[in-house]
Amino acid sequence: MANIPFLKPAPARLSRLVRELEELEASGTFSNFGPVNRRFEHTIVDRLFGGIGAVATVNNATMGLVLAIRDAIGETGGRGRYALMPSFTFAALAQAALWNGLTPLFCDIDPEDWAVSPEAEEELLNRYKDEVAVVTPYATFGNAIDLSRYRKLTERFGVPVVIDAAASLGSLDARGRGFGTGSQQPVVFSMHATKPMATSEGGLVYCSDPAVVQRIRVMSNYGFAEPRISSLPGLNAKLPEIGAVLALAKLDELEPIVLKREAVDARYRANLPGWTFQRQLGQRTAHTFTSVLLPEGLAHRRSEILKNLADQGIGAATYFSPHLAEHPYFKTNSVAADLTVTEKIAARILALPLFDDITMEQVDQVSDALKRVTQ
Ligand SMILES: *Cc1c(COP(=O)(O)O)cnc(C)c1O
Repeated sequence: MANIPFLKPAPARLSRLVRELEELEASGTFSNFGPVNRRFEHTIVDRLFGGIGAVATVNNATMGLVLAIRDAIGETGGRGRYALMPSFTFAALAQAALWNGLTPLFCDIDPEDWAVSPEAEEELLNRYKDEVAVVTPYATFGNAIDLSRYRKLTERFGVPVVIDAAASLGSLDARGRGFGTGSQQPVVFSMHATKPMATSEGGLVYCSDPAVVQRIRVMSNYGFAEPRISSLPGLNAKLPEIGAVLALAKLDELEPIVLKREAVDARYRANLPGWTFQRQLGQRTAHTFTSVLLPEGLAHRRSEILKNLADQGIGAATYFSPHLAEHPYFKTNSVAADLTVTEKIAARILALPLFDDITMEQVDQVSDALKRVTQ
């Protein structure tokens, strides 16, 4: 029997970072944008964003989304208005909108790249106009969606944009730059243990405009622009120094990890000819896992297929099924537009094992098992 989990979180080994931990203790600073956080922020801007723009670390991407959305909708807030987002994404995005008093407005996706459909998005912007407080696209599964289109949407409709790029650290855009580079609209990344850039809990908000990043940093610290004086909306979303130690160490390993994950994804694609995979955008995707669509006629047998794989010792998952509009909490607190494509994709989606030290033999085993159980 195989022993191939779906994911295998691999943060940097704290037990090998004794010197860094001793330095942290000697500094006497354990949070509040200490020296390790500052070093990490500079290093990641240089390495992943070509030295352009700035980042603020946060304690996780969900808080990063809450703050970036709050900043985008402005001081008066957006109470009762919509956050236009895909239903084919992770719950954190809809929750972040709801915490800001917004109502998620779910939009359909493109059948090939599985990100928000530009036509559906524009149709909803034309239909709801000023009722849309913010547009929050998702860079689906680390895919490098076209951010220049969102800059144009802001110019045309006057609506702010916040990008959920939770799984995109290490992805490259069409020009070979780190995904998000140069974006005037905040891009929120996760460093959760399950992501390729794995820590434990952690995230960051990137923007080419350092003023946006500075406001988000202030908001992440009770809205304190000067010591202990709240001048902006705020809460506590600071990444502790120990989180930055983990992040700095993982950043050193990120490049080979992303390359390895890309090779694994390519192997799945080669092993499963005729199956439908996500259309890749940009020059490189930092894969968290590989998603494939079951043949249409087999979608109704998905749970049986998952169980069959599990019985053979192979983990798999169904991100994002149910899609958000199907979750009980969002059903009663959001508005869903036409989701025909979302429903079709979600019904067929299957996420296959991927982790830093998976072997190509294991990838072949998974592929063979999938072929057998779907025959
Ligand atoms: C992982 C993920 C998040 C949440 O990130 P956290 O750092 O765990 O809060 C949000 N959105 C998407 C699309 C994700 O994949």
